[in-house]
Amino acid sequence: MIADKMVNLVKNSSAIRAMFEEGKIMAAKYGAENVYDFSLGNPNVPAPAEVKKAVFEELEKEDPVVLHGYMNNSGYEDVRAAIADSINRKFQTSFGEKNIIMTVGAAGGLNVILKTLLNPGDEVIVIAPYFGEYNSYVSNYDGKIVVVSPNTETFQPNLEELEQKITARTKAVIINSPNNPTGVVYSEDTIKKMADILRSREKELGTDIYLISDEPYRELVYDGIEVPYLTKYYENAIIGYSYSKSLSLPGERIGYLVIPDEVSDAEDVIAAANVATRILGYVNAPSLMQKVVAKCLDAKVDVPFYNRNREALYNGLRELGFECIKPEGAFYLFVKSPVEDEKVFCAAAKKYHILIVPGSSFACPGYVRIAYCVSYETIMNSMPGFKALAEEFQV
Ligand code: PLP
Repeated sequence: MIADKMVNLVKNSSAIRAMFEEGKIMAAKYGAENVYDFSLGNPNVPAPAEVKKAVFEELEKEDPVVLHGYMNNSGYEDVRAAIADSINRKFQTSFGEKNIIMTVGAAGGLNVILKTLLNPGDEVIVIAPYFGEYNSYVSNYDGKIVVVSPNTETFQPNLEELEQKITARTKAVIINSPNNPTGVVYSEDTIKKMADILRSREKELGTDIYLISDEPYRELVYDGIEVPYLTKYYENAIIGYSYSKSLSLPGERIGYLVIPDEVSDAEDVIAAANVATRILGYVNAPSLMQKVVAKCLDAKVDVPFYNRNREALYNGLRELGFECIKPEGAFYLFVKSPVEDEKVFCAAAKKYHILIVPGSSFACPGYVRIAYCVSYETIMNSMPGFKALAEEFQV
């Protein structure tokens, strides 16, 4: 007998797995080149050359007892110091090694910080559309998710509703910019207004509200757009970073949390995050990868590759009459479904071997997510299918 809490989680995750399996069956039936699988956010550009070089260098030069050993649960001191210095250089901050906790990707980091902060029944506000896994991460620690409804004009957060939804039980707000699934970057103006709202509600309620910035897509931005660094705008900001997308290393499970000295009870939060890393069973972030990322702090994946896909997909779909806003970052396009029930549209797309994800998976029904971390050919070859869909649904 599995735990009651797991029953629904298994049901939901099998829906996503079913789509993945369906893609594989389609590929076997029609040939992989004739299936346009836009369902997964799995980077398709290789890790930069610096990563491979650093892996070999570490294996050659580092003492294997150190390289493969346990270390402080928060990570190697030299790695954390190198990351802190790099952030300080890029964003004019003043973090030290103690402010950095190495994590098992963004997912590991979010679980560590939520384990650190949440008492049962504490509320965590998320802004729709949002990465659906947040529901599970919050429920892991018996928190309650509170959803701010989407602003479908701009997909910037609906700040009035955010203000209204803050209660004495609000422990954290999670934001994600560049955003999965919209590709929107929250502007500096949005961040400043959001910080003012949080500060004023903290004062009114006499509570602390931690703003958790989930930013695995920070480096994947286009047209020179700047992604504001949250700790410069709000004292109680905590950053969750990951190399899964920025260095195309999702399987290696490596990222970090930044917990600034300015957050309330910083020392306790840092100490608790260290313990949470251990007791959640991570113990520490993967040792070899910690050393590798410390040597690749300025390395970049081929962002122009994603940009070419973005332009081709966005322009192609707009010409066909589909409605969407141009993503400024990440590798997703969020398109308005031509029918209210977007699941009908996703099902119809399968006829043309196109796999896309319904917006209801991101608490934003009526839209679909198209992940363009695919080959350029996949995008170009899918266009006749999208044209047929446009005709079928009279967009
Ligand atoms: N947060 C967002 C918004 C994501 O899109 C993802 C992965 O797709 C994650 C977190 C998890 O990232 P990681 O693989 O680093 O755990």
